[in-house]
Amino acid sequence: MPLSYFQCSECGKRFDPGQVTYNCPACGGNLDSHFTFEENPNEVRISAILESREPSIWRYAPLLAAPDPGFAATPLHQVGWTPVYQPETLRKSLGMRELWIKDESRNPSASFKDRASALVIARAVEADIPTIIAASTGNAGAAMACMAASIGRQAVILAPRSAPPAKVAQLLTFGARVLLVDGSYDQAFELSIEASRELGWYNRNTGYNPYTVEGKKTAGLEIWEQVLQLRAKDAPNLTIFIPVGDGNILSGVAKGFADLLALGWIEKLPRLVGVQAEGSAAIYNAFKAGANAIQPVNAKTAADSISVDLPRDGLRALNRVRQSGGYYLTVSDEEILAAIPTLGSAGLFVEPAAAAAFAGLRTALRQGLHSPDEPALVLCTGSGLKDINAAMRAVEPAPIIEPTLTHLKEALHV
Ligand SMILES: *Cc1c(COP(=O)(O)O)cnc(C)c1O
Ligand SMILES: [Zn+2]
Repeated sequence: MPLSYFQCSECGKRFDPGQVTYNCPACGGNLDSHFTFEENPNEVRISAILESREPSIWRYAPLLAAPDPGFAATPLHQVGWTPVYQPETLRKSLGMRELWIKDESRNPSASFKDRASALVIARAVEADIPTIIAASTGNAGAAMACMAASIGRQAVILAPRSAPPAKVAQLLTFGARVLLVDGSYDQAFELSIEASRELGWYNRNTGYNPYTVEGKKTAGLEIWEQVLQLRAKDAPNLTIFIPVGDGNILSGVAKGFADLLALGWIEKLPRLVGVQAEGSAAIYNAFKAGANAIQPVNAKTAADSISVDLPRDGLRALNRVRQSGGYYLTVSDEEILAAIPTLGSAGLFVEPAAAAAFAGLRTALRQGLHSPDEPALVLCTGSGLKDINAAMRAVEPAPIIEPTLTHLKEALHV
């Protein structure tokens, strides 16, 4: 078992893994997992990973905080190892030298969140806890419900009443016990913690359960393997654009690279750019102010997956960006929606939160924060099928015609 100890990302206290389940008991900070391979890098052979034929996050089992629970022929073993594209037309239209897009809609429940839910379910199997509860704006819950269903366990999901219908449909279809909370995500979050305390259920909440970030780090490991290892030996100065709500995805990607650094498999961290919606910019505000505390906002954005009043992993995500030499920026809802058909033109169908990362790259290029000569990777975190209404707002409606060739020619001007 490679897990060695937990360490609080805020007060630095260390804990034995058997001693704590969620946040730091001393200060409430989020816990970082530390591994035996940090002391002893020879424990894991790089070839064991690079030569693995496992096309999922479980190829990284020697680096993960919970063991591979098996269930090889289920969606649990289809999480991760998502494709990385090099969209030529987009690259040229941005005047860039190198551009990659990692397509997380290819996960079993069609978002990045499957990575976290897979690790949480692995931990639940290891600790033999039958019921898992999660509060979610939609995707984390859908991912948890999908992972639980794929191994025949029970999930209880609390989502805000305002969650997009497609996400609620997913939850219900996966057979989770779903409650729509007449309130915000933040209220659902607090309620789920109360329920897990009272009822003994395992709580998956983002920025509370230390295994979510450990699942999400697999995206960093994949970017290393798919881009830095294989394609960009000449371009180690990669910048990664990540959409940010709670900050847990960004912290996860950063953790993957921190582990690689500890193993001596990379020499420097890639630069991380956190992209927030203008209407949900609590971490950006702290970054801009040079602050070390995060003030909640009244979040309002079309990108529901990054609409967060109080980011649950905000401080860690702030520090990870600083450590990487990166920065935070914001994009407007108009820019987010405009990025949906732009990514569509490269064959990708994304939800608004995923489009935000690409809109962030555009903004960074426009503001001179990112040079077109520097390689960039955009993390597209979720499928457009998750939020059809947003996609329809981003495009012109199709004309309706009489079923004749004349009308077809007239409508297409041919
Ligand atoms: C959750 C989510 C995000 C943001 O992740 P955080 O960990 O909250 O910062 C971005 N995009 C999609 C599609 C998501 O589901
Ligand atoms: Zn602490």
